[in-house]
Amino acid sequence: MWDASKCDFCGDCLVKCLYVDYDKDRAVAEIKALMEGEEAEILSKCITCCACREYCPTGADPYDLICEMQARTGASPITEAVVAVMDKSFEAPSELIPGDPDKPVLSLCVMEFGTPQGTLDGQLFEGMTVVKGAGYFCYEGYVHAGAARGGLLEKGVQKFIDKMAGLCKDIVFLHDECYAMAHVIVKEYGVTVPFKYMHIFEYLRDYLRDNQSGITKLGKKVAYQRPCSSRYTPEKDVLLDEIFELIGVERPPRKYDRETALCCSGHAIRHAFPELSAEIQAKNINDAIECSADAMVTLCPMCNRQLRRVTSDHGLNKIFITDLCRMALGEKPFPQ
Ligand code: SF4
Ligand code: SF4
Repeated sequence: MWDASKCDFCGDCLVKCLYVDYDKDRAVAEIKALMEGEEAEILSKCITCCACREYCPTGADPYDLICEMQARTGASPITEAVVAVMDKSFEAPSELIPGDPDKPVLSLCVMEFGTPQGTLDGQLFEGMTVVKGAGYFCYEGYVHAGAARGGLLEKGVQKFIDKMAGLCKDIVFLHDECYAMAHVIVKEYGVTVPFKYMHIFEYLRDYLRDNQSGITKLGKKVAYQRPCSSRYTPEKDVLLDEIFELIGVERPPRKYDRETALCCSGHAIRHAFPELSAEIQAKNINDAIECSADAMVTLCPMCNRQLRRVTSDHGLNKIFITDLCRMALGEKPFPQ
């Protein structure tokens, strides 16, 4: 949540923003205008990628300030389109597939549609209870959409945590947004999390570490599509490095990775800024190709879905993170 007392007007948030070209003076002027409740250009230029939350060195959370002002002024061209997409989440049928009593729950949120066919097959999730659908929706998409206003999120965060707590088991969040919600956002709303949970990266890292004898190192270079919601929990990025080391994959240094990752730029961004969306996707994919990546790996099912056609059009393989691990475990071939 925005904390004006932490802002020292360094301007880093908007100087580092990859979607505007502001120098320090312009960035500071924009932030000052927002703090004074005035209109500012960034409100209509912001693609709600959440990155400035991570760029801010003091933890002031300028992304939240931008969202608040976008809601107040109606200046965002994205919010309406994203809300229409997010509202569809409530139509996803809920399901609980029971598993072994001693294994954790795998939560898919409303994102099964973005995962590859057969994601639950194979050894990785064998015997786990699986929950999915609207009843297990985490609501974080509304934060990413800059639409976390009007009381919806206040009600949603408690509902989400209560639903997960009711499972009375440890939870593995497949969707990065669910993890951001449980690990950071619900706490900002004063909600406590009464169950143990982990991110899918941590689960995969531990599984691979415990089953190293079954791994055949892939010997490939793979570029990472970092999801926007990871800006809430950037500390877990190193877990991907550990996974890559275990499966013999190199994460080639590239312009648009780690702190300078680009949004996948699908769905609502495509509706609001069609030309910019295509430009961002092309920059991202060409960057991966230029660093000789054999593939791009996705963590977020939405990124996975949004980048499916465009990676194929550019001749770049795209692999979902669980499939990449299954390839190292000999369950699937690496695409040629
Ligand atoms: S959310 Fe992303 S696009 Fe918007 S101002 Fe922050 S860094 Fe820029
Ligand atoms: S919000 Fe953070 S990054 Fe932006 S000007 Fe204030 S302290 Fe600097």
